[in-house]
Amino acid sequence: MTAVAEVMDYDEVLERFDPVLGLEVHVELNTNTKMFCGCANVFGGEPNTHVCPVCLGMPGALPAVNGKAVESAMRIGLALNCEIAEWCRFARKNYFYPDMPKNFQTSQYDEPIAFNGYLDVELDDGSIFRVDIERAHMEEDTGKSLHVGGATGRIHGADYSLLDYNRAGVPLIEIVTKPLVGTGARAPEVARAYVAALRDLLRGLDVSDVRMDQGSLRCDANVSLMAKDATEFGTRTETKNVNSLRSVERAVRYEMTRHAAVLVGGGKIKQETRHFDESTATTRAGRTKETAEDYRYFPEPDLVPIAPSREWVAELKAGLPQPPWVRRKRLQEEWGLSDAELRDLVNADALDLVAATVDAGAKSDDARSWWVSYLSQQAKTLNKELAELPITPAQVARVSALVADGSLTNKLARAVVDGVLAGEGEPDAVVEARGLKVVSDDSALTAAVDEALAAQPDVAEKIRSGKVAAAGAIVGAVMKATKGSADAKRVRELIIERCS
Ligand SMILES: [Zn+2]
Repeated sequence: MTAVAEVMDYDEVLERFDPVLGLEVHVELNTNTKMFCGCANVFGGEPNTHVCPVCLGMPGALPAVNGKAVESAMRIGLALNCEIAEWCRFARKNYFYPDMPKNFQTSQYDEPIAFNGYLDVELDDGSIFRVDIERAHMEEDTGKSLHVGGATGRIHGADYSLLDYNRAGVPLIEIVTKPLVGTGARAPEVARAYVAALRDLLRGLDVSDVRMDQGSLRCDANVSLMAKDATEFGTRTETKNVNSLRSVERAVRYEMTRHAAVLVGGGKIKQETRHFDESTATTRAGRTKETAEDYRYFPEPDLVPIAPSREWVAELKAGLPQPPWVRRKRLQEEWGLSDAELRDLVNADALDLVAATVDAGAKSDDARSWWVSYLSQQAKTLNKELAELPITPAQVARVSALVADGSLTNKLARAVVDGVLAGEGEPDAVVEARGLKVVSDDSALTAAVDEALAAQPDVAEKIRSGKVAAAGAIVGAVMKATKGSADAKRVRELIIERCS
């Protein structure tokens, strides 16, 4: 038997199959308190300090719905062009998991608060892909397990596990798309662009801090392949909790190439959950996927149904903020950007960072250049999202101001940014500590100019005879001698002065 290739070449996948995507995004709401109790809803904290009988699932404890969470759920639904249920209920989703002390998750099952919507997503080339939304429903988050003693941090090989219930009962909204067909080769891009657009939308609504790195926005990517002549969807896998935009794209792409290899090799795709490994950009099998029947859903008897009045819904709809794409249009005009420049900015995930840098006093062109070029390169090198870089918009604005007033050359400015990224403190402290100020002290520069002229007498002679363009070679020599810290404009002036 010949060995089956583990993955198929991407182009070949597309010759034989059409991908079908389904994306489930979980969003933790930023309400002050949890979904069904008054415990503080905050990230982190000492383990098991934000808990009470309700979120610990103690016998006899009675939950009550957080009104603010219901309001956020409806605003999300409305922003996604969904219908809002006139009447809906919570259900118990029964299963055992140590980080879920009640042994059921309070969720919505067949009666979601919002359903039948869509989100228009802009792709890299400016075209729009409409993502149909099946539903957005309310549920609660689970606690967290910490597996101690193993090499991998996973339960296998661990000596023991610790449980932290601070996150148990945090309000979650799960947003589920309909099956996305017709994406073809762009399936990975559509997945990434959708999660990015959704994140922008949620940030604009101020309902969540949408931090993928902290898990307040998590994406499960369902992928299946249909042979070109097939009439039914293939078996799907669900890659869980992918925690960056880049990983969403890579996970979808990997699963497409893996499914194709299995199918062409005569195998079957197992319906299962999978985990994405950031370091290898591959997925590995998790648990075999349960079906809805396995959960024995039934209506939650301890909570009253939710029946939002149409007046309330209309009021929330009227109060929705400007959608992000409208804001983008406004910034594009304010900053004088072409469509392509705006798209680069959005694709680099730099729009908010640039806006914040401009708010901190930088010129929009300078702010844009920093984030889209140098800082984007650094983010790539460090394998981080741009927003995760350890530099703030205010710090970038400060470096930009130092360049504008002539204290730093562009080259020195990059060294200052490197210092900030390396944790050496504020830009001014880095300038001081690394001695990065531009040398505009004429006596020091004149000495360097004289030295350079003396070293290249033929060039010096040309300049003296009126060939000013030859000064470039001397400027270069001075910049080299001063390790880039000289004020190039002043150096040129001095060269002309010394040669006239
Ligand atoms: Zn509680």
